Order: sequence, then C-alpha cells, then structure tokens
Amino acid sequence: MDKTSAMPRLRNSSLCLIIAALAASCAPDSPSSSGRDVWGHRPGPKGFRTVILDAGHGGKDSGAVSPHTGQREKDLTLDMAMRIRDELGSGFRTILMRNDDTFIDLDERVIRANRFGDAVLVSMHFNSGPSSIRGPETYFWRVDSHGLAVRCQQAMNAVSPAESGNRGLVRRRLRLTRNPEIPCILLEGGYLSHPAESRLVADPSYRQRLASAIASAIRTQSDAGDAGTGSLPRPLYEPPSRPTDAPE
Ligand SMILES: [Zn+2]
Repeated sequence: MDKTSAMPRLRNSSLCLIIAALAASCAPDSPSSSGRDVWGHRPGPKGFRTVILDAGHGGKDSGAVSPHTGQREKDLTLDMAMRIRDELGSGFRTILMRNDDTFIDLDERVIRANRFGDAVLVSMHFNSGPSSIRGPETYFWRVDSHGLAVRCQQAMNAVSPAESGNRGLVRRRLRLTRNPEIPCILLEGGYLSHPAESRLVADPSYRQRLASAIASAIRTQSDAGDAGTGSLPRPLYEPPSRPTDAPE
C-alpha cells in the first residue's frame, strides 16, 4: 500500500519537507520490506546459491601489468573467475560479470550485480605496489560482507607462502565494496609487482589452488553463515562511494 494515501493531506509544504527529511534520516536504521538494510548492517548471508564473479578490469583497462612476467591483471582476473566458477561446480548458480576481454564500467558492474537479490559478489583482482610487498588482500566495507571476507582472506593466506608487509583484511569503501545492495568483497590475489609472487601467480597450478581455496570459502559461508568468523564490525553510515574514492 502507498503509505502517503493514508495520511491527511498537508497544506504546509515545508511540513511535508520536514517529514520527508525525518523519514529519510530514519531509513538506514530500519530494514526495508525485503528485510534488507540498505547500508548492509546485517549478519552475513547463509544459504545463498548465486555467486557473481567479477573479473576486474578488461578491454581498454589492463589493470596492473607485471614487470617480471609481462602478464596483465585483466587476463589473470578472468582466468581466476573461470577457475572459481568451475571449482564451485553445480551446487551454485554462478554469474560471470564478464567472460571475455571487455571493458565494463564500475558503476555498470554495480547495476548488474543489483539485478540479483539473493547473491554475493566476489570481485577478483591482482595488486601492484612497492616490489617488497607481497601477499593476498581482501577488501570489504559492509557488515554483511565481513564473514565472507574473513573466510576468503584466510583461504588465500593458506595457499600463499609466508607473506610480507601485506595488509590482509582491509575495510575500505570502494565502489564495489559499498555500492552493491548485496554482500560484496574484492580480492587481491597477490602482487604482480613482487618478483617471486608474480612468478607464482603466472603458474596455472598456483592459480588453481587459489581458486579452489576461494571456492571453498564461499561454500563454507553459504553453509555456515558468519559462524566462526569473529564478531561483526561496527556499522558505518556512509553515502555510496564516488568515482573519486580510493583507486580500485
Ligand atoms: Zn585491479
């Protein structure tokens, strides 16, 4: 029912504005009719069966390029998305954000992800930075994405050799960790700028182990929800991320 139809007609337009402002300011605290909090302040998902795999970059956007192997991030992320899809198998419906070398704008990726209600979004990337830094990292922002982020970071750590200087789990407001209306995380599978890690990532058997570990983490999240992933992070009220936010 349209709530406004039950209200007496108000002649004072400024009063209407005040009521509208109050309603808007209250909105983040109250779950919508679908039970979802638009800010993602709810426990992580359990029992989901749809996984959106987002291969970072693509087309004109190569992402990072390894100075050691010449490999491009956009090719490695697509390779990983396909490996994770295969590892998840028939128990999940998997959606590939892209399945070829196509450029898709970040905001368009958010729009596409929001077409699926009961799903999680996993965006795959590889990192670049000072040549001494190595190791996988996982970015999340929403409370409902914390458990999946913890599981995926632990899974990648278990496959990766001893890390050095990496930040592990990072809470950061990126367009793909804040703007989708579903739990969403961004994985950095390793540093292409690190000589040894770049060569490791170039090995298909290493990428397969990484993909297998990530798929198991997703499966465990669906089976167990947040159980065993620690206490939920504090809620944060921030508007949607902007293109000028931290680089993605
Ligand atoms: Zn990237």
